[in-house]
Amino acid sequence: MNAISHPMQRANKGMQARNVSKQYPGAHGQRVAALENIDLVFPEGSITCVVGTSGCGKSTLLRILAGLDDDHGGSITLGTQTLSGPSLQRGVVFQDHRLLPWMTIADNVALALHRETAQRRREIVDQKLELVDLLAFRDTYPSQLSGGMAQRVAIARALAHEPRVLLLDEPFSALDSITRLQLQDALLSIRDKERITTVLITHDIEEAVYLGDRIAVLSNRPGTVRIVIDVELPYPRARTGASFAAVRQSLYEQFLQHAA
Ligand code: ADP
Ligand code: MG
Repeated sequence: MNAISHPMQRANKGMQARNVSKQYPGAHGQRVAALENIDLVFPEGSITCVVGTSGCGKSTLLRILAGLDDDHGGSITLGTQTLSGPSLQRGVVFQDHRLLPWMTIADNVALALHRETAQRRREIVDQKLELVDLLAFRDTYPSQLSGGMAQRVAIARALAHEPRVLLLDEPFSALDSITRLQLQDALLSIRDKERITTVLITHDIEEAVYLGDRIAVLSNRPGTVRIVIDVELPYPRARTGASFAAVRQSLYEQFLQHAA
């Protein structure tokens, strides 16, 4: 028997969005649909990239997956458990790092660890800072870090309470292009070490092809799942390779076909 199961076979332990819909209040008491009938499987240990144009509902979906918005149709499950409200099972990273400027890097990472002993807290913080290659900066302050470093601390903080799922909403889109490439590799290295189920929202097609085991393409608003692509390319992926270009091309076609 093959000891390494395909991500799809482990789907039951991962996260699932079932028939998720979301409406926001609009003008004149009307409701405006932001998401409709989203059915998505996020297999355990895999990276799923969710791509779509601006305003198609990506952040709305991420907030629902994170339990930050319970006012929606459908359900979110993690393994056999139906989720409701935020929990430490999910770590979230946003486009801005949201670090507290008056706290050291170590204290920022330790924020959600108040139940741990001081010694255990220190061990966890140092392990997570090591993971993002910033242990040497543990006693510095956010203002002393570059944008890319601050985002790595935000990832360390999201991982500090050992969540089962890491959710990232366009985490690299405010960074310069070289730093963005470095952070993409950092995320792959984290996934290899922690084997964590990861959902990455991005509007960057190349980023999705570089990182995703699977890529879910959302339609324009209201967001629906247009297609889910399993990317069979082995990691690390060569951005300049022909097979990489072929996947990227098929994704571009998805967007060009449906451009108004
Ligand atoms: P994306 O992240 O893909 O750019 P969002 O999820 O932020 O899209 O938004 C999807 C749609 O829902 C957009 O049209 C946006 O204007 C609308 N929207 C988002 N948040 C709210 C809100 N709090 N109230 C009303 N409309 C909202
Ligand atoms: Mg967004």
